Amino acid sequence: MPRVSKKKLASDVLEALYSAFPDSECTLDNDTPERLAVRGILSAQCTDVRVNLTCIDLFEKYPDMADIAAAGEEEIGEVIRPCGLHKMKSRSLVAFAKLYTGEWGRIVPNDVDKLMKCPGVGKKIANLIVGEIYNTPALVVDTHCKRVMKRIGITVHDDPLKVEADACKVFPAESWIRLGHMAVDLGRSYCTARSPKCDICPIKDICGRKI
Ligand code: SF4
Repeated sequence: MPRVSKKKLASDVLEALYSAFPDSECTLDNDTPERLAVRGILSAQCTDVRVNLTCIDLFEKYPDMADIAAAGEEEIGEVIRPCGLHKMKSRSLVAFAKLYTGEWGRIVPNDVDKLMKCPGVGKKIANLIVGEIYNTPALVVDTHCKRVMKRIGITVHDDPLKVEADACKVFPAESWIRLGHMAVDLGRSYCTARSPKCDICPIKDICGRKI
């Protein structure tokens, strides 16, 4: 197969992904912006299914962010324990709840840098929050997206920030939110960490692995 430019590769990949995964979307429950942000914080190294279930309990006990802020890290840590990393995540949730009810005036900022001032909120979570709540173009580079982008040939890096920068150079901004979700679907169903199913992969004819 002849070599192609990264932009052409990206555009072909995008077209194939849109057709293979027409329904890709965020699988975290999304009722209110602040609750989605809480789920985003809890999603680090945890499945979305587990996060959604745990949040049913969490919001039943603490319906408002002020309740989370008042409860404190220890109490919140016990409720969110099923999501793993509960000490770090409860610290982050309480900090988020305090910022939300205080400095942010009960509005989740549509601003990645502002969100990242909250302890435990990195670029990936901040991108997820602005993308899902405000439809602000942002690519969520999780473990699937990182692996897929490297295999396809969009990046040579493993550092998520560098992967994001490389991908955002060649994929159009309006595709970034969906691209993140489609990369997760591709990574889960075909481009698995071990034994990728290249022979039946929907982008097998254009994947950089074969270029
Ligand atoms: S062809 Fe193989 S390496 Fe390329 S995206 Fe598909 S599964 Fe991954």
